[in-house]
Amino acid sequence: MMPPSACSFQVLSISSDCDARRAVLRTSHGTVQLPAFMPVGTQGTVKGLTVDLVRGTGAEMVLGNTYHLALRPGAEIVDELGGLHRFMGWDGPILTDSGGFQVFSLERLTKVDDRAAVFRSHVDGRILTLSPERAVEIQELLRSDIAMVLDHVVPLPAAPATVRDACERTVAWAERCRQAASREDQGLFAIIQGGLDAGLRRWCAARLVELDFPGYAVGGLSVGETPAEMYAVLDVTCPLLPTHRPRYLMGVGRPEDILESVRRGIDLFDCVLPTRNGRNALAFTDNGPLRLRNQIHRRDPRPLEPDCPCSACRHSRGYLHHLFKANEMLGPILLSIHNLNYYQRLMADIREAIETDRFLDLFQRKMAGWRLTRGGERC
Ligand SMILES: [Zn+2]
Repeated sequence: MMPPSACSFQVLSISSDCDARRAVLRTSHGTVQLPAFMPVGTQGTVKGLTVDLVRGTGAEMVLGNTYHLALRPGAEIVDELGGLHRFMGWDGPILTDSGGFQVFSLERLTKVDDRAAVFRSHVDGRILTLSPERAVEIQELLRSDIAMVLDHVVPLPAAPATVRDACERTVAWAERCRQAASREDQGLFAIIQGGLDAGLRRWCAARLVELDFPGYAVGGLSVGETPAEMYAVLDVTCPLLPTHRPRYLMGVGRPEDILESVRRGIDLFDCVLPTRNGRNALAFTDNGPLRLRNQIHRRDPRPLEPDCPCSACRHSRGYLHHLFKANEMLGPILLSIHNLNYYQRLMADIREAIETDRFLDLFQRKMAGWRLTRGGERC
């Protein structure tokens, strides 16, 4: 059984006019100020960036992908080389997902029953089995600070019977993961599934809360639903989660999704958007996104954002435009740095706004800025 000391969570303050919370998460590799955003280190690296650059953006915790690391180089090799912190050179907290999302959502699944998911490796075509017990074993070998239970994710839209079946399996597997967990320095978070079905979300949350996990994730979102549908799921789910446990919204999302979710009481996020979009020449700003391949930036002497301290913003938009046009690798690197910096500054602003009980003011101001250019198509 998992000891309660593996990680600890404390709420510092709650907004008076919404459910936004300022909190801290303590792990054996350090403390994370919440609400927080985790850059995604899919293959043991946040793509294109050294760990020093990642740390320089303000990130305190990163996410590692169990599925990818288990296939290559293999969890046993990461263990031999000292665990994931040592392997990738990141000495701060690490959260690993369970592999469920990749196995179920990337069309590699060949069979699933109550025992395990059977899938085909995208690396070498091998047929592999991922059971709840193996998902825990892999994450214990990786030695992450926070591990996730193996869940059954269903791409949306899906038939009601399919969603119900996956939701029931998710609860049964969460219990088995809990039984299998043995590391004293690793916290295990449960994942609430149930698609867009409010009744199933409520049922799943109630069952998992009964099992008393040290943290809860809302999973199965950002898989084809609209933003309004996602927020509706949070409206149903968040009030059912214990206030003294952290809440993690998996794989979400855009800056506006983060604000909408913090408002509903979410503490922790991860998403590939800042780095993926950065590699594709899209920069996030308070006035909406900029597409650096666009010719309008060719002679523009301004930085992406005048007040951004990142290394990309020492350069002109014209220079960044040039790097992408010339296919120089520095372009994707600089925009990844800027976007991660942007997300971390957003989270810092959110934390400060909650501390001073002005979160909804920040919410309105940021939303107004992002909306301003959406109509104008300035980017
Ligand atoms: Zn910048």
